[in-house]
Amino acid sequence: MKFIKRRRQNWLNRRSMASSIAVLVLAVLAFSARWAWWRGKKPGLCVLCYHKIGVPPAGSKLKDLWVSPERFRAHVKYLLDHGYTTLFFSDLKKAFDSGAELPAKSVLITFDDGYENNYTLAWPILKELGAKGNIFVVYNTIAKANLWHNPASEPWVNMATLAQLKEMQESGVMEYGSHTMNHPHLSALKLEDAAWEMEESKRQLEAAFGSEMCAFAYPYGDGAYAPAIRARALAAGYTFDFSFLQGKTLWPWDRAGGPIDRLFIRRGDNNLDLALHLSRGASRL
Ligand SMILES: [Zn+2]
Repeated sequence: MKFIKRRRQNWLNRRSMASSIAVLVLAVLAFSARWAWWRGKKPGLCVLCYHKIGVPPAGSKLKDLWVSPERFRAHVKYLLDHGYTTLFFSDLKKAFDSGAELPAKSVLITFDDGYENNYTLAWPILKELGAKGNIFVVYNTIAKANLWHNPASEPWVNMATLAQLKEMQESGVMEYGSHTMNHPHLSALKLEDAAWEMEESKRQLEAAFGSEMCAFAYPYGDGAYAPAIRARALAAGYTFDFSFLQGKTLWPWDRAGGPIDRLFIRRGDNNLDLALHLSRGASRL
């Protein structure tokens, strides 16, 4: 009887150990599916891509584009605590033109579109912590709203005014690049109209800010890999064009080889995601 009891106990112990191992394996698999730590480290330039800082408004179907100020602050702090040097577009241009090396851990913090929350929420954090930021501005929506979105899926919110943008520029914390005149899908336009979006926004933004716009980001990433459109972006005089593709770009950059990729930062990205973006070029599958 005792023998049978002991055997049953052993069997139960083995069963509970097996189920513990199964739970552990599932947890590791779930963790590895969410955070791609197993991906090899990649060299190259890191360009973080943010959009809006704040809490998504009711009705937003693009919640991933909203990063809370607390999270943004934690990201910037992580960069500085881990020895990253934040760069302006103009820093990148100086290095590109002269062939000088970039600091070993270089990163560009970029924001697309030019939202007012970049001024009210992101700028104070960058200023306080001593980091540099760059905004790709849509010229025709300055002081207006994100008019290219259907408000039924992404409510309209304020874009920064020219005075706010200039104040950030004068603080030495923010620089600007172009994100077209109207935020269109460039490949849906006639080539001449797409070229006008890129050329005219460069002219207007340079006149507004009194500084060279050396960087351009394709709205939605559309056109970045269309050779005719990309040729017109480079012919417009931009030194750099930025895609919306996830990844890092080898430096020195092969300008003829394609645009500079970016690291799209989502609302749910914590510091582990950030670390994986920076080291692996992606944090998810
Ligand atoms: Zn955009």
